[in-house]
Amino acid sequence: MNLIDTTAAAAAGARSPLEIAGTEPPRSEAKPSPAKPSLAGLDRAGLADALAQIGVSEREQRMRVAQLWHWIYLRGALSFDEMTNVGKGLRDKLSAAYTLDRPEVVVEQVSNDGTRKWLLRLPPDIAGDKPHDVEMVYIPESDRGTLCVSSQVGCTLNCSFCHTGTQRLVRNLTSAEIVLQVMVARDRLGDYPGRDRAVGPGLPTEGDRLVTNIVFMGMGEPLYAYDSVAKSIEVLADGEGLGIGKRRITVSTSGVVPEIEKLGREVGPMLAISLHAVRDELRDELVPINKKYPLKVLLEACRTYPPASNAKRITFEYVMLKGVNDSPADAKALVKLLAGIPAKINLIPFNPWPGTKYECSDWETIEQFSDIVFRAGYSSPVRTPRGRDILAACGQLKSETEKLSARERLALRAMAAAAE
Ligand code: SF4
Repeated sequence: MNLIDTTAAAAAGARSPLEIAGTEPPRSEAKPSPAKPSLAGLDRAGLADALAQIGVSEREQRMRVAQLWHWIYLRGALSFDEMTNVGKGLRDKLSAAYTLDRPEVVVEQVSNDGTRKWLLRLPPDIAGDKPHDVEMVYIPESDRGTLCVSSQVGCTLNCSFCHTGTQRLVRNLTSAEIVLQVMVARDRLGDYPGRDRAVGPGLPTEGDRLVTNIVFMGMGEPLYAYDSVAKSIEVLADGEGLGIGKRRITVSTSGVVPEIEKLGREVGPMLAISLHAVRDELRDELVPINKKYPLKVLLEACRTYPPASNAKRITFEYVMLKGVNDSPADAKALVKLLAGIPAKINLIPFNPWPGTKYECSDWETIEQFSDIVFRAGYSSPVRTPRGRDILAACGQLKSETEKLSARERLALRAMAAAAE
């Protein structure tokens, strides 16, 4: 499910008045040095492997992993020199072999309402190929800050209302690349102990953290990148590090039914379903994966989602499309469909993008729809469009940065293979 729009404001050359690009990076942002791998974003097993590579004995690894974990994830360290409880000899060895680099921030945009959007550049898979750009959006409220992260570059699913669906899939992100999105956001917001905390309109005023919640609603279908998403959640939720509990992490799926139960059983985050229609015929068009996993099957998977309870409700996302899915009859059918599921319904005013055939429902229609749902006992907040001035609102995400054709990529791969 795609919550954010990053319609290539950057790539297309559009400039928000508040866009910050090519600015001096804050203290928290390291320059990329591709020759050495970064330890930032790795899980404990990955850190142990990295330590083994530089000769740290198995006996010592556990303690060293704990130290690295603390510095990387709790303190947001950017240099091994900051790790004052790690001996100088090991720090030197670590610096010689590794970095703590984050992906490069290509563009940062700050909306009038405090929403922030970052375009991150990931190194290409092979030398000479184009780098991959992914975007993430930070949505602040008074008592929380939600970061919307991507799980894939592009998407295969072609949901007809979604701009990202018009971009072909390039690849799944790794778990480290998902974790790094969160780390970059914290870097940019000064959201680590002892850092200069960002100030500005719209930022949370309660609590001691600016990034408190994560939603997998950026580019891609997270359950098609299951392994990366599952592993990244374990790193994000670790109480000795980034400490974003699983109740504050939501995975939004278009309905990859076989992975829903597995996600609940193995990982246990909050679940959101990109629903958008109450009849198979319409959902087949809006969310084509419905042809494979129709509503009955999908809702059964929700009914039996292991972590779901009245305290941990499943969110059903419903984008309001004028004259398509927004009638009172649709609202009543929605209520009926969700009977017996601990649910909340999130109504999303559609954000049009160039070339779309859909329009957003009138405000009056949205209110009427919301009333019916509310009277049936469901919480049904209408999501206020955020970040419209920086094209960061729902349903419009599209990176225009992956322009190499499949043939060009194959040719590059062949050249790289030949050179090996
Ligand atoms: S095409 Fe569908 S699954 Fe893919 S990002 Fe858009 S809404 Fe999500």
